[in-house]
Amino acid sequence: MNTDMTGIPFTSRGVEMSRAAEKNGEYKRSQLRILMLEDSCVDIELNEFEISEAGLDFVTMRAVSENDFLEGLLGFQPDIILSDYELPDYDGISALTLVREKCPDIPFIFVTGRMGEETAIEMMTRGATDYVLKHRLSRLAPAIKRALKEVEDKTNRRIAEEALRESEERYRTIVKAANEGICVIGEENKIVFANDRLSEMFGYSVEELTGKSIFEFLDEEGAAAATVGWWRGYKDFRERVEARLTSRDGSTLWTIASTTPLRDKDGKYTGTLVMLTDISKRKKAEELIKKNSEELKNLIEIAAHELRHPATVFRGYAQILMEDWEDLDRETIQNALSRIDAATTRLMRLVISLLETSRIERGKIDLSLSEVDPVAPVRRVVEEFRLREVDRKLRLTCEVLGKEEMDAEKVKQVLVILIDNAAKYSDKKCPIDIECVKVEGEIVYRIADLGPGISDEDKERIFERFYQVEDVLHHSVPGIGLGLYIAKVIVEVQGGWISEEPRDGGGSVFSFGIPCRP
Ligand code: ADP
Repeated sequence: MNTDMTGIPFTSRGVEMSRAAEKNGEYKRSQLRILMLEDSCVDIELNEFEISEAGLDFVTMRAVSENDFLEGLLGFQPDIILSDYELPDYDGISALTLVREKCPDIPFIFVTGRMGEETAIEMMTRGATDYVLKHRLSRLAPAIKRALKEVEDKTNRRIAEEALRESEERYRTIVKAANEGICVIGEENKIVFANDRLSEMFGYSVEELTGKSIFEFLDEEGAAAATVGWWRGYKDFRERVEARLTSRDGSTLWTIASTTPLRDKDGKYTGTLVMLTDISKRKKAEELIKKNSEELKNLIEIAAHELRHPATVFRGYAQILMEDWEDLDRETIQNALSRIDAATTRLMRLVISLLETSRIERGKIDLSLSEVDPVAPVRRVVEEFRLREVDRKLRLTCEVLGKEEMDAEKVKQVLVILIDNAAKYSDKKCPIDIECVKVEGEIVYRIADLGPGISDEDKERIFERFYQVEDVLHHSVPGIGLGLYIAKVIVEVQGGWISEEPRDGGGSVFSFGIPCRP
């Protein structure tokens, strides 16, 4: 390689302009670095003259052999290469091949004495950027500028494409990782894109979702709303609505649907972007709160009513007894006291029900197991009942021999609830049949009455907390809708079951079973 006295590569006019930088072995970043493959010093001078006349700030490096050129290409890192076609020890086509192999983006301009059309075509097809004839050197600077502009445009395009690719990748990751179900609805309300979360929410794979109409997931109400502009209307505005959808397994999916119309560059509607936030859990919690507050309202109303009844009885009879004590005969006084006693029982039962429910709600319900005769609790409840309701006929059938491990107090509690209900909901003259049998490892208790029975509709619900049958017949009797709920919890705590069946000839049979412990 030719070098000047300073030891740096041979350069001429361009280097003169940045001598200080060269001394440090550096070039100004803004300077154009030109590698010239040229053996004629005169031609180099002429080239540089043309380039500097065009106002370019540059530095050149000259090479005459393959070694010089390769060293210059890798060490000098030129922005552009100007090359003669033929040199004594090297040639332009070989240099071009080398450049395209090592640094495909560097512009390569042939500056040559003469060139036939065929050679020019061959050079261009091999990757030359341009060619300038030495006797038309005025074209050199414009050719360099054009080549550099092309490189700049290409670089900018590449940067923009890279930025676009990165940003698309970023959005793809966001859409993929999003906690929201995202889809794009195209013409005819068909899903054209869906993310993984949506597939999870609907229970269909992304492939299965693609092409399905969004209407397939809407219930009747939602579909009607959608038809009147729910989706299509969104072509012109953004929306945020609550939408109830149905997933593959038929479960309801409560969502907040945010929709945004999508348009092409001419403003033409191309579809709707839909983001679905699953609010099913919140909805369930809301429904529970609503149910609880509804129940609380009912409880207050019913409890007030139930409390007023004994209070009225107490006050009424207390007044009679206080005001007319002297004039009352023994029978009237006894009657008044037994009414007060009955009202007290009713009040006590109400209070006990409420306390028991509160214990259940707090999860404070413990078992106290012991070896007992399963018939014993029946006998005790029947005896107590007969003391209260002397005229009521109770018929007892018991077929259990031996002892079983059970919580006799809890069994008694359930029997009291069921026998009291049987008495409450059937005519005083009708007998109540009570049975205690051992069936397939269970002690089964049955209480049958001749009351109004229970409709299929109410059958399951009567065991719910605060549930009371709405009809007049049932409603005329006292109650707070807690007895059967308490009975069910108590039975289930012991691993048992409770149910109601219609009785042949009318009335109900309430049964519950307690498993025998091995
Ligand atoms: P309540 O305190 O209202 O009696 P329960 O939980 O014991 O509450 O009963 C729930 C509902 O089931 C009652 O309101 C009543 O309508 C119905 N029911 C309970 N037992 C009987 C029965 N033996 N015959 C007819 N209906 C009954």
